Parts: sequence; structure tokens; C-alpha cells
Amino acid sequence: MPRSLVTGGAGFLGSHLCDSLIASGHEVTCLDNLFTGSRHNIRHLEGARGFRFVEHDVTEPFDLACDFVWNLACPAAPGHYRYDPVKTLMTSVLGVHHCLELARRTGARVFHASTSEVYGDPDVHPQPESYRGNVNPIGPRACYDEGKRAAETLCFDHRRMHGTSIRVVRIFNTYGPRMHPYDGRVVSNFIRQSVTGEPMTVFGDGTQTRSFCYVDDLVAGFRLLMDAPEPFTGPVNMGNPNEFTMIELAREVARVVGADARIEHRTLPQDDPLQRQPDIALARTALGWEPRVQLAEGIARTVAWFRSIDPSEYPAPTPNVMQPEAQAR
Ligand code: NAD
Ligand code: UDP
Repeated sequence: MPRSLVTGGAGFLGSHLCDSLIASGHEVTCLDNLFTGSRHNIRHLEGARGFRFVEHDVTEPFDLACDFVWNLACPAAPGHYRYDPVKTLMTSVLGVHHCLELARRTGARVFHASTSEVYGDPDVHPQPESYRGNVNPIGPRACYDEGKRAAETLCFDHRRMHGTSIRVVRIFNTYGPRMHPYDGRVVSNFIRQSVTGEPMTVFGDGTQTRSFCYVDDLVAGFRLLMDAPEPFTGPVNMGNPNEFTMIELAREVARVVGADARIEHRTLPQDDPLQRQPDIALARTALGWEPRVQLAEGIARTVAWFRSIDPSEYPAPTPNVMQPEAQAR
């Protein structure tokens, strides 16, 4: 049995990845500190052959025999990563460092979940992997963006120094069942608000754009990337290139839910990128990957999941993993 370690495996993307790996016969260790993830996301796997959960924080070293390390641990939603920005940056940097050190000891291949945020507020559109980005290094998003940029650097330095086998994906906005209902991201907010009859909160005038990828498409891409033969390393963009304004998204959610598109405008957050769309030419040519699930279908599946859960089982992150000095504030 191939042995996989999935950091952040109790989170949104990580739990879907664990499902995919178990289904194809991997032995899976899901390592998570449950900061934004939940045991609910992996409950169906507990007891499955080859699956085990280990509660652990990636800022501390870890050791186990494995063939594949999938590094997904990191809060991903702006509201979550800004909760304790110092911890967020440390999670990115120390988390990948510990994965790469584990790979040195075991010879495992390391898959690293990077992000479109490495492009910052892009002045090139759509963004190819060669674009070096426009990140504000001292702004409120920097703990995430710069942490992810440094994590990519560590992957490539380990490869150059130690010949480590690495695969780096730059993920663009992804949605689907098991998103944290209170993560503050636009898809989860609009669906939760629409299902409960609240107005949808559109930040700014709603003309900013994003491109939304359904989770199953993304996980299929992860598997292709990890299996890609050497010397392919990425970074490779993965996301759905179909671009929508936030107003268009709100209308689509309302249509699927069968509600009126009631909108309430709020202030646009600082450094909020105005436009984001992946250039997925590399994923298409090198991996033969492209997304298949269109927005209407993906939103319908996500709405069905939101209707099936009790949101109180997904509490907002608590201070249990904060720095002691931050807890004292
Ligand atoms: P998520 O918050 O649902 O999952 C992150 C998981 O990591 C959670 O289970 C959380 O408890 C765990 N975690 C956080 N800090 C940890 C720590 N110090 N030690 C151990 N575990 C820790 O978010 P997600 O959307 O599933 O994102 C997964 C990965 O993909 C992240 O690295 C994120 O940066 C990246 N990503 C996601 C998106 C997206 O649209 N969902 C976009 C770009 C990049
Ligand atoms: N957004 C919004 N209403 C919300 C939450 C977010 O209009 O309730 C906007 C946000 O300002 C951004 C876009 O939706 O322009 C995507 O935000 P999200 O936090 O989902 O992802 P990111 O900014 O990281 O791409």
C-alpha cells in the first residue's frame, strides 16, 4: 500500500484528498491540529482500512514512514488566517520545513499546497506561473501571501540542495461541501446567508472578479500532479478559468437556492484583489488536467451540503493554538 501523510487532512480540501487516497488504496495518516478543520469532515473515514488521524501542530516536527507527503495545513480563509497572523506565517514556513525534513529522512515526495495569493493583487491578467506577483509585504494579507511564497522557496531550495522530489500547486479559489460555514469566504457566506434568508453581503460594488473551482476537479488535479513523472515540479496553477463578478455569483447562488437575490453592500477590505483568473495552460499541457464541473452544478452540490449540516458543529476557530502572548491580549 502506498503510504500518504496529509497535513491539514481534516480541513475542506484535505478531507476530500483523504477520501480520494483511501478510495485508491493508500494508507493515509491525516495530521491536523483542528484549528479550522473538523473531525466531522473525516468521521466517515475513521475506522476505514488504512486511515488514521493524528492531532498535531505542523509548527512542531513530526516523524513517520511514508512515501507521499501532502502539505495542506494552513488556515486559508482571510478571516481565519488573520486571526493570528504570526501563527499563520509560522504554519506555512515551519509546516513545509518539517515536511521537507521528513522527506530528507524518508525519501518521500512532497506535494505543497500553495496559492494564487502568491500573485497578490495582480497587474497581469490572467496569471501565468511565470508572473512574479504584486504582494504588499506589510499588509494584512501578507502573513498568508508571504508565508506561502517563502514555503515555495523552501521547496525549491530543498530540491536544489538535496534533490528532494517536490510538486507545488498554486490553488485558485475552490469551493464545495465541507467548506467551513463561517470561514467568511464569499461562496460559504452567500450560500449560508441565502439559505437562511439573510441578505448576501457584497464587499465593495461587487464588480471584482474571482474564478471558482469545484473541489472534486481540484483533487483530481492534485492526484495527477503528485503522479507526474520527474522532473516536473510545478509550480502549476489549478483553478477554473471561468471568471465571475461577485454580483454574478450572488445571483447564481440565489437562483440555485430559489431565493430573491437580496444584496447588502459592505466596505471592500484592504488589499482585496480586484481581479483573479488562473492561466491553466501548463496544467492542461503537462498534466492533461482541466476542470469539468460548471458553477451552477458545483453551487447546487454545495447548497445541498449546507442544507444537510448543523453549522453549530463547525465552530469558529478558538484561541487554543494562539501564541501565549496573543491569548493574553
Ligand atoms: P481549511 O482551513 O479547511 O484547511 C486547513 C487545515 O489545516 C485545517 O484542517 C486546519 O485545522 C489545519 N491546520 C491549520 N493550521 C495548522 C497547524 N499549525 N498544524 C496542523 N494543522 C493545521 O482550508 P482549505 O481550504 O482546505 O485549504 C487547504 C490548503 O489549501 C491550505 O494550505 C490553503 O492555503 C490552500 N489553498 C486553499 C484554497 C481554497 O480555495 N480552498 C486556495 C488556495 C490555497
Ligand atoms: N466577498 C464578498 N462578500 C463576502 C465575502 C467576500 O463580496 O461575504 C468578496 C471579497 O471581498 C473578495 C471575493 O469576495 O473580493 C472573494 O473573497 P474570498 O474571501 O472568498 O476569497 P479571496 O479574497 O481570498 O479570493
